[in-house]
Amino acid sequence: MAVLTIDLNKLEHNARIIVQKAAEANIDIYGVTKVLCGEPCVATAMLRAGVKGIADSRIENLRELRNSGIAAPLMMLRLPAISEAEEVVRQADISLNSEYATCVALSKFAVALRRVHKVILMIDIGDLREGIWPKDFPALLEKTVLLPNLEVMGVGANFSCFGGVIPDHANLSVLSSLANHLSRRLGKKTELSAGNSSSLSLLFDQQLPPEATNLRIGEGIILGRETINRIPIVGAYLDVCTLTAEVIEVQDKPSVPIGTIGQDAFGNVPRFENKGTQKRAILSIGRQDVVPEGIVPRLKGLAILGASSDHLILDITEAKQPIVVGDTLSFDVGYGALLAASTSKYVKKEYI
Ligand SMILES: *Cc1c(COP(=O)(O)O)cnc(C)c1O
Repeated sequence: MAVLTIDLNKLEHNARIIVQKAAEANIDIYGVTKVLCGEPCVATAMLRAGVKGIADSRIENLRELRNSGIAAPLMMLRLPAISEAEEVVRQADISLNSEYATCVALSKFAVALRRVHKVILMIDIGDLREGIWPKDFPALLEKTVLLPNLEVMGVGANFSCFGGVIPDHANLSVLSSLANHLSRRLGKKTELSAGNSSSLSLLFDQQLPPEATNLRIGEGIILGRETINRIPIVGAYLDVCTLTAEVIEVQDKPSVPIGTIGQDAFGNVPRFENKGTQKRAILSIGRQDVVPEGIVPRLKGLAILGASSDHLILDITEAKQPIVVGDTLSFDVGYGALLAASTSKYVKKEYI
């Protein structure tokens, strides 16, 4: 069976490195659990490392985190749907927003539930996922501050998601000026949520603007790297997550299929280079479990040749140790592969 193992001590260590670096710049870290489906023990490890709160993109995950007894602030990352506004007010202390109509709905339920719900107004700095244009901020703010039981906590932006746009001095200074506008308007220091793991290089180079007050970090903690160039964080563990799968066949096979080649399982016509006979292993893991292009065997000398829904095919001719049926092989996972493995019901999760 395929198993995804998460080492919580290593995860906590990574979180602590980031929290301590951020503390030097007076920046809080919200630990993002979404790629591990809001698992409470992951959140608890992040909190032990000193994160200010936990952020997740799914209301189901926030509910589970709350029910598990986590008392730290919870932040809803995905823009709330109006239809889930009540649940967002119930489960989350803070949400990221860009639509006035959604803020109206959140305010209505906050009044009904006698709570104050905090919102961060999201600005699109050009990555073209969520957010309003900077020029529209003052008008949205003036309407939103009037809504009862809603507190405009700050402004924020997301980077490196849809458009791959990275945080830099130009776009961060736009955010800083909006944060200053907000602070003046409300007569108090407000928050600037200055991005995700793609802002870590700027954090480590002490290049974030003084207005920045928090970052929302998932991949940096869980995979130990920033996300502009996927450069490892110094001192961080890169093997918090390990995927393992079992060998179900080892045979010598030619490198080119025999017979007339039509479409493969996914409608592509595959091409093959003749490399002679190879030693091949099949593992009981496939596209229902993981993104095969996003995993790397830990053992040297192995090459992934392909995968169908339930089978992963490896060339093990150059393997640095013998591999037999029944062995378990380990893999590093990239973000997309980790997301797939986390959300696959066929992959067992183990937290150690
Ligand atoms: C997923 C997400 C994050 C965390 O991103 P990482 O790259 O994993 O740090 C932060 N903010 C928002 C809005 C997100 O959706």
